[in-house]
Amino acid sequence: MSESNRYDAVIIGAGIIGAATSLALSRKNWRVLTVDRLPAAGYGSTSGSCAIIRPYYSTVDASAIAYEGHFYWRDWQEFLDADDERGFVTYNNCGAMVSKTPHNNELRDACAIMDELGATYEHLTIEQMRERLPMLSTKSFYPAKTIDDPDFGVANEAQLLGGVLFHQAGFVSDPQLATHNLQRAAEKNGARFRFNTAVAEIMQSGGKVAGIRTTDGETISSPVVINIAGPHSSKLNQLAGVEGTMKVKTRALRHEVAHVAAPPGYDYENQGCIFSDSDIGGYMRPERGNHILLGSEDPPCDDREWVDPDNFDHNFSNMWQTLVMRAAQRVPELGIPSTASGVVELYDVTDDWAPIYDKSDLPGFYMAVGTSGNQFKNAPVAGQIMANIVESVENGHDHDTQPIDFHLRYIDRIVSTAFCSRLREINRNSSFSVLG
Ligand SMILES: Cc1cc2nc3c(=O)[nH]c(=O)nc-3n(C[C@H](O)[C@H](O)[C@H](O)COP(=O)(O)OP(=O)(O)OC[C@H]3O[C@@H](n4cnc5c(N)ncnc54)[C@H](O)[C@@H]3O)c2cc1C
Repeated sequence: MSESNRYDAVIIGAGIIGAATSLALSRKNWRVLTVDRLPAAGYGSTSGSCAIIRPYYSTVDASAIAYEGHFYWRDWQEFLDADDERGFVTYNNCGAMVSKTPHNNELRDACAIMDELGATYEHLTIEQMRERLPMLSTKSFYPAKTIDDPDFGVANEAQLLGGVLFHQAGFVSDPQLATHNLQRAAEKNGARFRFNTAVAEIMQSGGKVAGIRTTDGETISSPVVINIAGPHSSKLNQLAGVEGTMKVKTRALRHEVAHVAAPPGYDYENQGCIFSDSDIGGYMRPERGNHILLGSEDPPCDDREWVDPDNFDHNFSNMWQTLVMRAAQRVPELGIPSTASGVVELYDVTDDWAPIYDKSDLPGFYMAVGTSGNQFKNAPVAGQIMANIVESVENGHDHDTQPIDFHLRYIDRIVSTAFCSRLREINRNSSFSVLG
């Protein structure tokens, strides 16, 4: 085998998490190759991401990482320290308004976590919510319902309970370009990327990882292989024979996002903020062309569509209509388009909707998987966490009994990576939804 086909680490998957891990490892002077079956970086599930940045999760550690992530997006070019001929993404730090509902315990827990972290927010009355987003109705429709429910669209007597505006929040303009930015930064440090290259086998020798074999039969030698294959993660873990030893597993979940025009007279694109609304089970964010991007918060009334990532329906279903009709409860002047547009993509979901950033039971095989529709924001941090885990385990550290700590430099806080272990107990405080 030629020297050029040997690497210190091979990453499977050039999505936002794979590219961030490539950058972090290359900054440690590792010779890294990232392979992807698709033609360019960020063309997998990352391309369909809503790329919302927000600091609140169900646990302190998960929130701390997300809060830290905000500062990387704010200082994006400084973090990259590299050029990109396609330009750089922008971070619109417009804030995230969240409605208080029984479902989220009126945001008491989220605000307590923000207080512990020093993240800032303000409580809003329903009048103040309408000042932020004048197109909103503040009627309550809780709980979220399916559109064939006879009570769908029937408002409760009581209004919304108010909301909270989280300040360290917003969205990134173009998730695919963000991934390309990371690729260029990694390449500046010597990392290589190969596209149109699908992995068919995790090679092993003497009970350890030896490299990968592609579907073309080519072998690439490396003592470290990292599964960052997004919704295909479970397939790669099965190829490596490690899935059976994981307490927390991953599955691909089909999701739809709708794009609709903002009602005439409202400049949602330039004056709007993120609005996360478990009263109707959905969220919205500004999109180019004064559009509103509508996503689901996975309310309990909706069936979950677990799919084979190689065989699922890429067309819109009645979920698209459900998203738009739910949003029309909140935005009464919303026009319902006759043609569906938006995104049909997959989340890679774990049992408790928190990611797995970990080693495996096969020496040399690692994984950054199960990003559960909520890890785009964390990519710059997750890449460094993965690089530290790989480096310390390859240096002999027993990460299973002593999960490594990670220092969040912006907020100056240490988090234990135990919460993203494949061997963890399920987080019972999870929302068991995209909110994590
Ligand atoms: C609709 C939607 C909305 C979202 N909204 C948000 C949001 O608002 N905020 C947020 O923080 N997160 C959000 N997310 C989640 C976030 O986008 C993901 O967590 C993140 O993009 C996952 O990145 P990744 O690199 O792990 O996976 P991917 O981008 O899926 O990359 C995995 C790559 O692996 C490659 N691959 C798979 N199998 C093989 C193989 N055998 N050989 C070679 N290559 C292979 C694929 O081609 C793919 O490019 C959303 C996700 C979706 C789908």
